[in-house]
Amino acid sequence: MQHLTTNEKQTFNLAKKIAKKLKGGEIIGLIGNLGAGKTIFTKGLAAGLGIEQTVNSPTFILMKVYPIRNLNSDIKNLIHIDAYRIKSEQDIIAIGAQEYFARPDTVVIIEWADKIKKILPKKTRFVNIKNKEGDKRIINI
Ligand code: ADP
Ligand code: MG
Repeated sequence: MQHLTTNEKQTFNLAKKIAKKLKGGEIIGLIGNLGAGKTIFTKGLAAGLGIEQTVNSPTFILMKVYPIRNLNSDIKNLIHIDAYRIKSEQDIIAIGAQEYFARPDTVVIIEWADKIKKILPKKTRFVNIKNKEGDKRIINI
C-alpha cells in the first residue's frame, strides 16, 4: 500500500494508525535515506502503542526498549533498533536483539533494516520511505 505524506505530522499519524492494528510479534523494517522520516515514523508508532516516553533515535546505543504499561494492551514492549552505525549484522546479534524477534508480546521496529536483512525473520514487514520534493514522502508498506 502506498501513502503520500506532505509533512512530518502526517507521517507520524500514519504510523500511529498502523500501531493500532498491531497485535504483538511484529517486526517492522524501515528503509529510507537519512532524513526520510524513519525516526518520525517510529515516534508515531510508539505514540499509537501508548508510549508517552520521548522516543529518540538510538543511533549511539543501537537498541532501546520501551515498556508499555497499558493494561488493555497485549503488547508489553516496543524495541527500537537503529542499524545506521553497525559494521555488520554481528553487532546486532551481539546485543541480543534477536531474542526479541520471536516474542509475541513485543513489537520491534528497525531503522536502516536493509543493513541487517540477512538476520531478519521472514515475517518482517518492510516500510520504504522515499524523499520527494520538499516535505513530500512516499511511504510503501
Ligand atoms: P530518519 O530517521 O529517516 O533519518 P528523521 O525522522 O529523523 O529521519 O527526520 C525526518 C526529517 O524530515 C525531520 O526533520 C522532519 O521534520 C522532516 N520531514 C519533512 N517532511 C516530512 C514528512 N512528510 N514525513 C516525515 N518527516 C518529514
Ligand atoms: Mg533516524
